[in-house]
Amino acid sequence: MLICHLCHSSDIFILTAKDSLTYKGHKIEFDIEYSVCNACGREFIESQQIQKNDATILNAKKFADGLLSSEEIKEIIKNLGLTQETASKVFGGGENAFSKYESGKVAQSASMDRLLRLAAEFPSVFHWLIAFSGGTVKLKDSSAYGVSEKLKDYRSAAANQEQYQISSSSILEESNYG
Ligand SMILES: [Zn+2]
Repeated sequence: MLICHLCHSSDIFILTAKDSLTYKGHKIEFDIEYSVCNACGREFIESQQIQKNDATILNAKKFADGLLSSEEIKEIIKNLGLTQETASKVFGGGENAFSKYESGKVAQSASMDRLLRLAAEFPSVFHWLIAFSGGTVKLKDSSAYGVSEKLKDYRSAAANQEQYQISSSSILEESNYG
């Protein structure tokens, strides 16, 4: 329960406000959560709210970068029949990597992002990664591959990103010249 540190009242409102920042030359907008004491009017941001706001800002930046959101990563891992622990064995990234991605503390690298999309889209890639993990992770019966519908969303989410399109077309141009 939230308590005002000034007057010790527990009559606290949770409010959100629009905020924005400039990221890589683009303005990104998001909602910031804060608290207001109904007794004395003090406005404050609790430590859990700071964490939540930091995660919101990180997600907005990831969206601008065309990266999977924390929720999307959570969904992919779940659909593949993995936990945070087994996911880090399969995909690498360190023991606590997936708990940090899912809680929005850390953004996945662009290469981790692509690996997740690949594994979710191509069962053979996922099977290869499971085998590569050296038998530490077992493949569950694959309800894992009811993910194709969802994947269309991930693809379109990425395709909506201007930067993603630019980098894709520059790859195409390079291969045309190659
Ligand atoms: Zn107060």
